[in-house]
Amino acid sequence: MAYYALPKRKNNSGTKHLFRAWPGTKRKERHMIIVFKPHTPEEKVNEISGIITKLGYEPRVIRGVENTVIGAVGDEQMHRSLELLKSFSFIEDVIPIQKRYKLASREYHPGDSFAMIGEQKLGAGTFQMIAGPCAVESLEQVMRTAKDVSSAGARILRGGAYKPRTSPYDFQGLGDEGVEILKQVKKETGMPVVTEVVGVTHIEKVAEVADCFQIGARNCQNYHLLERIAPVGKPVLLKRGPASTIEEWLSSAEYLLVNGCPNVILCERGIRTFETATRNTLDLGAVAVAKRESHLPVVVDPSHAAGKADLVLPLARAAVACGADGLIVETHPNPVEACSDASQQIPSAKFKEFMDAITPIVELMGKIPKPHFDFEKK
Ligand code: PEP
Ligand code: MN
Repeated sequence: MAYYALPKRKNNSGTKHLFRAWPGTKRKERHMIIVFKPHTPEEKVNEISGIITKLGYEPRVIRGVENTVIGAVGDEQMHRSLELLKSFSFIEDVIPIQKRYKLASREYHPGDSFAMIGEQKLGAGTFQMIAGPCAVESLEQVMRTAKDVSSAGARILRGGAYKPRTSPYDFQGLGDEGVEILKQVKKETGMPVVTEVVGVTHIEKVAEVADCFQIGARNCQNYHLLERIAPVGKPVLLKRGPASTIEEWLSSAEYLLVNGCPNVILCERGIRTFETATRNTLDLGAVAVAKRESHLPVVVDPSHAAGKADLVLPLARAAVACGADGLIVETHPNPVEACSDASQQIPSAKFKEFMDAITPIVELMGKIPKPHFDFEKK
């Protein structure tokens, strides 16, 4: 399996300015089927055919004994959407027959793709554990966590310098200072870093240390941010929005890919449902669907789904059994003192036990768990 990389887009203006369309991808032809209700009179079919033509599409009428459908081909980005035809009482449905995402789809790339986070391969048969605190709080805290999780076998460090918090009164992360801490820990341990970008203004700063950007659940559908982060050229771990459908999540991945992001890693972290016993409902069905529909690696975050430390392990084991290519797990040297997500972080000193409970399932799934990371030798 080849390393999945999109061809670099040329910037025809010669500036760093982004341009929106990439011929052959974004401005692609779209096929729609317009289904009429049974026994719709001929003149209505002709009327719709005329509207479709006026809207700039090419209609092809297919008549059946009872049902008539029109196939319409056109560039939806250049024209008004044919969805408006649903307002006619004699139209049963308007159905797109191509997916809204293309580069992310398995049709486009049948094999599994993988991402490189630093020197660590993730996906296409290689499993990775990404571990670290919810937020960067101090040099000692991140260094201790990094040492504990790396000696337990995790090879990629997580930790947010910028935190998206539900309340403006909660700890918002150390910001630039947090980035500096991550730099020091990365330098000393050699662990590549996954860290979140919460807004376009921080991209450059976070890029100084991130080997992989994290787009948080709240920003999954922040298309402006996705468009801006993609051309930086680093992999992006894209969390699924708490209320995003799988199609919306994959369409967000498409935003990244079409704008030049080299590798996207999908991350299921639980969605909002009526259930309150867990913080979010881990949607393992989405993992299976994402693996079927897309070639992109899929990682699961059991920490934000569980919300409670004791539930993280069972969810993590289920995720691996369901086909996840990796896990991203929150750990802290002393969770009760954590500035954010205290109740779901696993004590980093106990991370080895956690890893030991995961590894047999990784092996059972035929994935290669990375060799033990020898921090001392790094
Ligand atoms: C996080 O990873 O700490 C985080 C804020 O996650 P999410 O965006 O999934 O809520
Ligand atoms: Mn968190």
